[in-house]
Amino acid sequence: MKGFWAEKRVTVTGGAGFLGQHLVNRLKSLGAEVYVPRQREYNLTTLDACLKCLLEHPCDILFHAAAYYGGIGINVTEPAKLYYSNLVMGANLMEAARLVNLKKFVAIGTACSYPGYLEGHLKEEDLWAGPCHASVVNYGLTKKMMAVQAQAYKRQYGLDSIHLILTNLYGPGDSYNPDRSHVVAALVRKWVEAEMAKTPSVEVWGTGKPVREFIYVEDCADAIILAAEKYNDSAVPLNIGTGIGTTIRELAETVNEVSGYQGKMVWNTDKPDGAMLKVLDVTRMKKELDGWVPPTDLKAGLAKTVAWYRANKAEADTKW
Ligand code: GDP
Repeated sequence: MKGFWAEKRVTVTGGAGFLGQHLVNRLKSLGAEVYVPRQREYNLTTLDACLKCLLEHPCDILFHAAAYYGGIGINVTEPAKLYYSNLVMGANLMEAARLVNLKKFVAIGTACSYPGYLEGHLKEEDLWAGPCHASVVNYGLTKKMMAVQAQAYKRQYGLDSIHLILTNLYGPGDSYNPDRSHVVAALVRKWVEAEMAKTPSVEVWGTGKPVREFIYVEDCADAIILAAEKYNDSAVPLNIGTGIGTTIRELAETVNEVSGYQGKMVWNTDKPDGAMLKVLDVTRMKKELDGWVPPTDLKAGLAKTVAWYRANKAEADTKW
């Protein structure tokens, strides 16, 4: 029996990026014909390039996984670039999608779009319940605008789309550049380098008290592909995560454990904590994806990530 993805024409923006490369590999293994637009050919921040891309490479389903993004550091140093590039890319790509009558637009959103000051796990209906956390507003709001655009485009043009809200990703192929990286990649690099240099201590940012949720990137790619197949509500976003909160201190202790290097942690409280709690409620995800839950637990995922980073350090350190 032919599966859903066999011979489907699929375009993945950001297909050479961290999440995108895992999406592409998985889609290909399921039999899809995958096209990845590269920035030098199509600068997706312009409407002309978005239209040209979709006309020259017609597809059934478009995954918009391209983003200019990073951890709490880049939100401080490059707020304008984060804002402009993500806002116009999302807006123009969806406009192009409706002009070519695309069948389905899969928007990759972010947990940074949620209000940054709520108690408890974040449910889809909370998305509109308050302001984003100040530390990530420039990125979070641009992705949130895609959810607004999706509702408007469904109502006026009948464009089918889904908006997936991803929690923090980690794993092979991430950005390991300390100016840009998220906490997992940053800590993996710090621990591996401390071991190599035999440094007795490792610096960790903030107080260690913020709670985050971490999903292994390959699990996340699987969830996105499953959602693209099974989820069809253009009006209501869908959370993708584990639903499990971990403090930054617990995360650092686990990296310490799986790396085998017992570094002493030094907490630099001059660095920002960001939101104190960012964990998704995944009740709807489980229901909509027929009971699917991410199979890789944090310890196993971190062990794979440390092993990958050790084996690919030279390349990983120079990539984005
Ligand atoms: P966020 O989820 O948007 O806040 O982004 P990050 O993944 O960059 O940061 C998550 C938390 O990890 C914040 O509380 C940071 O202060 C903390 N953290 C601890 N050490 C580091 C580090 O070396 N790099 C980064 N990016 N965050 C760190």
